[in-house]
Amino acid sequence: MDILEILRDTGALLEGHFLLTSGNHSDRYIQCAKMTQYPEYCEDICRAMAKSFQDAHVDVVIGPAIGGILESYEVARQLKARSIFAERENGVLILRRGFEIKERERVLVVEDVTTTGSTTKEVIDLVKGYGGIVVGVTSIVDRSGGSIDFGVSFKPLIIVDFNTYHPDECPLCKEGLPYIKPGSRNIAK
Ligand code: ZN
Repeated sequence: MDILEILRDTGALLEGHFLLTSGNHSDRYIQCAKMTQYPEYCEDICRAMAKSFQDAHVDVVIGPAIGGILESYEVARQLKARSIFAERENGVLILRRGFEIKERERVLVVEDVTTTGSTTKEVIDLVKGYGGIVVGVTSIVDRSGGSIDFGVSFKPLIIVDFNTYHPDECPLCKEGLPYIKPGSRNIAK
């Protein structure tokens, strides 16, 4: 299974001029919701993520809302684990809806795309705050080029190193191309 091909075929891999959550600009953006429109693709991709942790005795799978909800749910289903998600309230990631993590429960963190890893790190801290054991992190795409260190096992399906530019040095800005903001921390991701 070629993950990039699936992302491209489903329109999840976008080319253009994008403002990333980090504030940097890029010529490519991955919108995984375009892929998860197709549950059979989502099932296949999540099977690959689940496989990396099939022997990790995962009790709970957690993802950050909204981007990580579908993937973490499907990974949990395949690992026969519980599925929960974290969401932002006043800018802080928390568990709501009666979700909880019990002390010593083994927790896998699932993301769609990791860029700087800041959201994922918040999820890890949240799990640890409940006394859970973070057995690892997986994502469909690590677009940091493999530079993120979570301090736990991190197994993304693919690692990409897309061009990322500081706004002052963005060649697309210099060409006068308008950028779009595909998702934001407060809304979509
Ligand atoms: Zn730009």
